[in-house]
Amino acid sequence: MNAPLPRPSPPMAMLAELTHRCPLSCPYCSNPVELSRKDSELSTEAWIAAFREAAALGVLHVHLSGGEPASRPDLVPLVAAARDAGLYTNLITSGIGLTERRVAELDDVGLDHVQLSIQGTDAAMADRVGGYRGGFARKMQVAGWVHSAGLPLTVNAVMHKQNLDRLEETIELAVTLGARRLEVATVQFHGWAALNRAALMPTRAQAMRAREIVLAARERLKGTLVIDYVPADHHARYPKACMGGWASTGLNVTPDGTVLPCHAAQTIPGLTFERVGSRPLKAIWETGAAFMAFRGTDWMQEPCRSCERKTIDFGGCRCQAMALAGDAAATDPVCSKSPHHAALVAEAEADAEATPPDFVYRRMPQNEPVA
Ligand code: SF4
Ligand code: SF4
Repeated sequence: MNAPLPRPSPPMAMLAELTHRCPLSCPYCSNPVELSRKDSELSTEAWIAAFREAAALGVLHVHLSGGEPASRPDLVPLVAAARDAGLYTNLITSGIGLTERRVAELDDVGLDHVQLSIQGTDAAMADRVGGYRGGFARKMQVAGWVHSAGLPLTVNAVMHKQNLDRLEETIELAVTLGARRLEVATVQFHGWAALNRAALMPTRAQAMRAREIVLAARERLKGTLVIDYVPADHHARYPKACMGGWASTGLNVTPDGTVLPCHAAQTIPGLTFERVGSRPLKAIWETGAAFMAFRGTDWMQEPCRSCERKTIDFGGCRCQAMALAGDAAATDPVCSKSPHHAALVAEAEADAEATPPDFVYRRMPQNEPVA
């Protein structure tokens, strides 16, 4: 029998998904296919209580996300409350729903950082991918307001088959917008993205070229722009340490207050989740069944169990293991040691070579894509 696990260290970060509402309809959205509706969202007071509990637990950063967090009319008071609780506040936004005045108010209440997503380097591409006419123009305005307010800006560019060939322009755009950091993030195939694999999966040649472009740009832009590059999973030999290891560094709270060990944890059947307010957040973090399920390494099967990398990547992503191997405790099929790896790569290569079909847009009833 395994010895009881030691009490876990506190999480560093909380992803607060304030709402699933979003004016955009990105086909790569990692939100679940079953979106939470407005009437199930936590109230302002419940979010404020959650921020206080998170800070008391030891959380340092809160990432205010969605959906589009600016769809919440109480965004400014929520940022103020998170700051009052002592949290570093990062707003993850598409920019839609922000105005010059709202950016100034967010700055006034102490917002620490803005992460702005872009879907392309011109209106034709960006508005088609985001499914929102006028989105690109508004994003350019928002970047200007953020820059003028002196708020640190990260540009998040989600890259895929249909825009990876414009990576150099994307990097130039980030510099023009005054960003300090650019995340070149290849689509991760969770949520809605899984429905759009053949439209989005990049080819190996695109991924290799992207790596060369990023390496050259990092050198050229040293001191101006930091560039992170997240390649497609199947182009790597080993998986990433998803969430830094299950229930080790961060937690997510969904719009209705469900506390998750990771963004996609609800895709794993059999896990039970708790809501903020049902028990102290500290108790949910330390002893919640979903958090305990894959914490540490005792749950591992072979080949992870005897692998020298098991405390480096923690066997990869549990949700991906569930989706691709049918077993959440299996080795992530992204790993070259997984018996499912060859099939995963073959499927991904076929998707990459396919003529892109039309997008399946992420859609809540009020969204109306342009395409
Ligand atoms: S990925 Fe697109 S649709 Fe999904 S929340 Fe972000 S901006 Fe909205
Ligand atoms: S076998 Fe498991 S622990 Fe080893 S590299 Fe692969 S996923 Fe990581």
